[in-house]
Amino acid sequence: VHTPERNGSNESVQVIVRCRPLSEKEIQAQCTTVVKMYPSRGVIEVENPKARSENEKNKIFTYDSVYDESSTQQNLYDETVRPLVTSVLEGYNGCVFAYGQTGTGKTYTMEGREGDEIGIIPRVFDQIWAHIARKTGVEFLVSVRYMEIYMEEIRDLLRPKSGKSHDLRENATSGGVTVTNLHSSTCQSTRDMLKAMKAGNHNRSTGATDMNEHSSRSHAIFQISVEMAEPNSESVRVGKLNLVDLAGSERQSKTGATGDRLKEATKINKALSSLGNVIYALAENSAHIPYRDSKLTRLLQDSLGGNSKTIMIANIGPANMNYEETIVTLRYAYRAK
Ligand code: ADP
Ligand code: MG
Repeated sequence: VHTPERNGSNESVQVIVRCRPLSEKEIQAQCTTVVKMYPSRGVIEVENPKARSENEKNKIFTYDSVYDESSTQQNLYDETVRPLVTSVLEGYNGCVFAYGQTGTGKTYTMEGREGDEIGIIPRVFDQIWAHIARKTGVEFLVSVRYMEIYMEEIRDLLRPKSGKSHDLRENATSGGVTVTNLHSSTCQSTRDMLKAMKAGNHNRSTGATDMNEHSSRSHAIFQISVEMAEPNSESVRVGKLNLVDLAGSERQSKTGATGDRLKEATKINKALSSLGNVIYALAENSAHIPYRDSKLTRLLQDSLGGNSKTIMIANIGPANMNYEETIVTLRYAYRAK
């Protein structure tokens, strides 16, 4: 993959953009495509469908890499996430985020569809167990946790009915933040991990009256820890990976939310902008990283920055109808770069 040099930028933060194909519905509504991508250069050109003059017509953005509608799940994985998981298996932490307006492909990117189109999360499982099968002389302990943040409240997706509260506690020795009473499930295989993922997804939807509505308003965090112990060594290395399907980034003015809905929507937008601020500060090697501004960034503090690696995948749709939202997403991602 071609990654252009950036002066003073932080190599451990990668920002990529993925554009899905036009949907059936968009084709039927005779939407046109306003997005052009140049994958070899990491460039995206977006045409303003309402431009009144030549010089307001096209906007150009560059990223670490861009994936157009013909890109495959396998390509995206091999070029971006695989190296990050390799470093998790060496004891480093990492985060992968899927960002974007509802309907642009966040869940497709993270979970995908059965068969050739499985997404990042199940591919991570395969990579981890293939590594463990090859590696001799090291003992591995793999465990997963699955939670969501909905209205700034944490919910345990593996034990949704435990009745226990989930707060954030600073851990003075590790410098990390832990979630209280969160269930951790030990896994021995890809199958165990898939089972946990599916159980969590099921629990995510059962609490909700409208699944689509719910998933567009909550952040889902699938967390994997890999502990590695060498028999002759006292120390245990731990790599932690967070796979995050973020709440929809759509501006709430457009959805006509009022009252409690609007309050909740404001919280979502705040969490996403605080994540953007953290990634921006990391990418700039800034001295102050504003982790404390949201639950999401506090929770992920020990996997953002330091020796950790971060991949932000901004998802967009190609249709003229979504032009405004697409530009908002591209600007968010550009700032993070
Ligand atoms: P989000 O999670 O951002 O709301 P989804 O992942 O549910 O969006 O995607 C919306 C629809 O578009 C789904 O039907 C999904 O299968 C489809 N889709 C998204 N990205 C792609 C892609 N790259 N190729 C083919 N279909 C896609
Ligand atoms: Mg989704």
